Amino acid sequence: MSQKIAVLPGDGIGIEIVAEAARVLNHLKNDGLDIEMIEAPVGGAGYDAAGKPLPDETLALVKESDAILLGAVGGPQYEALPRELRPERGLLGLRSELGLFANLRPAILYPQLADASSLKPDVVAGLDIMIVRELTGGIYFGEPRGIREKANGEREGFNTLVYSESEVDRIARVAFDIAMKRGKRLCSVDKANVLEVSELWREVVIKAGSDYPQVELSHMYVDNAAMQLVKWPKQFDVMVTKNMFGDILSDAAAMLTGSIGMLPSASLDANSKGMYEPIHGSAPDIAGKGVANPLATILSVAMMLRYSLDYATLADKIEHAVGSVLDKGLRTPDIMAEGCREVGTVEMGEAVLGELSA
Ligand code: NAD
Repeated sequence: MSQKIAVLPGDGIGIEIVAEAARVLNHLKNDGLDIEMIEAPVGGAGYDAAGKPLPDETLALVKESDAILLGAVGGPQYEALPRELRPERGLLGLRSELGLFANLRPAILYPQLADASSLKPDVVAGLDIMIVRELTGGIYFGEPRGIREKANGEREGFNTLVYSESEVDRIARVAFDIAMKRGKRLCSVDKANVLEVSELWREVVIKAGSDYPQVELSHMYVDNAAMQLVKWPKQFDVMVTKNMFGDILSDAAAMLTGSIGMLPSASLDANSKGMYEPIHGSAPDIAGKGVANPLATILSVAMMLRYSLDYATLADKIEHAVGSVLDKGLRTPDIMAEGCREVGTVEMGEAVLGELSA
């Protein structure tokens, strides 16, 4: 039976880049990919169509789908809306309704783009790290939280960092499974020298690791991990960490590559159903101009094929096609360099399709 993919372009450049990614998916049907794609509005487009950022029909569709391809949401025309109607609420709603607790953020730097990084090319060329961030627990969700008044009248803010064993175990297993599909090295990042939560985190990760004897497990304190990411990032294969540490480290790792238009991401539930999207936003400054880089979204499709749909060979094929297009010197304006040929969104998409047919 064919697998169902919900296609949610969203707003701004989301529409242009998702169109190219959908063409890639359609093209791969020639290689045996058995899928059905259904499009629905979300974010500002959801508000325009149905008066809320996550329309009921869109929610019903994503619930019955095997995977979701998302563009991006947001735009200046929606900024004056009440908070609960803003486009970003659509995204948060998708994450919580679908129980997407594992956020996968690869930081990959194609050797052809090494000059785009603010670090020296030899430090980052060929970089390929996967950061697995716990997405639905930890200090961002822990209770109690708030701002209260002390007896002396001074106010204090407080949040709660809490992780149960089962929450740690399930994210650790996602990370071990991914490490098995890659270089078989996993670094768990914590702050076990200071935090009890991290002590338990480390204990549970080690225990889960006994089911993955082929994976080499290491541990690093988060402050050292931040330093090592900038010093010699290529030492890492897969990293796993809690929500807040992952939020910070994955942005730092992404920026090592210097090219926001190149980075995909995935958010998975307990059954590997996932939502796949570029890490960038809806880029209102370039929306409608046909110049957005579609490669992050096309690479998100590769992640979807690898992690949700079980077509690893086709995922490899897409990633290889993207590499070949870059080898040929094609660049959208965001990654343009001397001696290369500047192309727009559609031409870049067509070039990938051309490589897939080659
Ligand atoms: P942004 O990522 O949209 O843009 C930042 C800069 O990067 C801009 O100069 C933009 O032109 C450029 N850029 C982004 N993607 C690009 C691409 N594919 N090709 C070429 N250049 C690209 O971030 P922002 O400007 O801070 O936010 C714009 C809107 O997007 C806001 O409404 C914000 O809330 C929303 N947003 C949405 C998501 C999401 O949907 N996941 C994530 C971040 C921001």
